[in-house]
Amino acid sequence: MLLTDTHAHIYSEEFADDRDAMMQRAFESGVKRIFVPSIGSSYTDKMYAMEAQYPESVFLMMGLHPTYVKENFEAELQHVEHELSRRKFAAIGEIGIDLYWDKSTLDIQKIAFRRQIQWAKQYKLPINIHCREAFDEIFEILEEEKSRELWGIFHCFAGDYQQALQAISLNMKLGIGGVVTFKNGKIDQFLNQIDISNIVLETDAPYLAPVPFRGKRNESSYISNVVAKLSEIYGLPAGDIAHITTENSKAVFGI
Ligand SMILES: [Zn+2]
Repeated sequence: MLLTDTHAHIYSEEFADDRDAMMQRAFESGVKRIFVPSIGSSYTDKMYAMEAQYPESVFLMMGLHPTYVKENFEAELQHVEHELSRRKFAAIGEIGIDLYWDKSTLDIQKIAFRRQIQWAKQYKLPINIHCREAFDEIFEILEEEKSRELWGIFHCFAGDYQQALQAISLNMKLGIGGVVTFKNGKIDQFLNQIDISNIVLETDAPYLAPVPFRGKRNESSYISNVVAKLSEIYGLPAGDIAHITTENSKAVFGI
């Protein structure tokens, strides 16, 4: 089985003690492709080190995470722009708007989101969207920026059926992870009405571990629990879920 984790923070401090063992567990469970979102400049060197160690399996994104959009955001964006100009990335991400942690930065979050969308168009790269309590704000910008040159993934999609349809209409796939296994996660209620061609798998490791690891540290090998749940929802064997979602990830990233 070949699985693709489209969103994992493998450079996180959470893996300081067993990072290589964690990667081996991922490979053994079939997760051979791991896409790694950037959050801020302080992690860039760690990301490059992971890519150098696992060049066949680790694919990097570049971007400024909305909760890292603070007073120094122009300098952070310059870092993103500089890295984009000098090497190849799989996507621009994770970018978006987060009104759960800090509403006071909404204006500059919007500026950073829109500017990074424009770079995605310029470099012909997909975007990886972080959306927390901000569907209206994000859809407003996506509707204004929409074009055939703008596509990507709504990472950790946690919206309702209508929001899922709107995201898909904007060339976005839905990143599905641990939340689909939660009792109160809600997306499991309507996912069977969403064509599986719109779904990619992700963990968001070390966050949002699926049941039965809910509340614990998450890692890419746990994606098998997400596959099992999707297998139930779509009535398809796990191997088909793995194959289809990997092909979907190739359609997004081009790799
Ligand atoms: Zn993330």
